[in-house]
Amino acid sequence: MSHQDKMHRYLFENHAVRGELVTVSQTWQEITAGHGYPQPVQQLLGELLVATSLLTATLKFDGDITVQLQGDGALNLAVINGNNRQEMRGVARMQGDIAPGSTLKEMVGNGYLVITISPTQGERYQGVVGLEGETLAECLEDYFMRSEQLPTRLFLRTGEHEGKPGAGGILLQVLPAQDTNADDFNHLATLTETIKTEELIGLPANEVLWRLYHQEEVTVYDPQDVQFKCTCSRERCGDVLKSLPQSEVDEILAEEGKIDMHCDYCGSNYVYDAVDIAAIRNDSAAGDEQIH
Ligand SMILES: [Zn+2]
Repeated sequence: MSHQDKMHRYLFENHAVRGELVTVSQTWQEITAGHGYPQPVQQLLGELLVATSLLTATLKFDGDITVQLQGDGALNLAVINGNNRQEMRGVARMQGDIAPGSTLKEMVGNGYLVITISPTQGERYQGVVGLEGETLAECLEDYFMRSEQLPTRLFLRTGEHEGKPGAGGILLQVLPAQDTNADDFNHLATLTETIKTEELIGLPANEVLWRLYHQEEVTVYDPQDVQFKCTCSRERCGDVLKSLPQSEVDEILAEEGKIDMHCDYCGSNYVYDAVDIAAIRNDSAAGDEQIH
């Protein structure tokens, strides 16, 4: 069995610092399959996937996180959405050619990193930071410093293992409301930085953690599976249709005889004819009556 597509959480018992280690292969391949993304976009989605997985693992409630890069460059959107069950999906949109070896800034241009945290219960939170850093990891560290004021280090790597694409990452974060020594945190970050890409994505997590921190006292918790899963459904698409102006929907129906809704994340199609649309509207009318 593969040791990849797993999220591991750990804790440094003597430093009030926690860590997360994630590797993905299958999940990354399934998200990008059939899209024909240029290599730098494929790689960036791998980093975004790892980053989103690490971020969702910091959630203390049920919900999901969307990590999105948007800008005026040839890559105008790259987004990964994931939830606390580590179900991930994502997509990229391009409006021009992307040369091999392009950097983050060359692809996105003037842009932003937008992080949207949506708890299942409660208020949505959105954080936006300009793309100041050279890498996605630097931009995310910047975000954590501004939004949560928690010193955080991220290490994101992409490569190959046994001929298959693999990506991995580590997050180190000072525990909230703890008196963590800055030198201790920097020391742990320096240790972590020594991990080689082929070790991170090629070795079992326990071996990676032992190599990095064998002089530290580390508690490692049970891992969680990471997988590709889209949360779209016919019902959710129906909700979107319901929210559109009726005249607009009727116009498409008159012209095409049906409405074809496409999910960019997973490629699913949901088709509605006039009877389906009438049923959706009746449903919502019935719902309204119950409220009044
Ligand atoms: Zn979908």
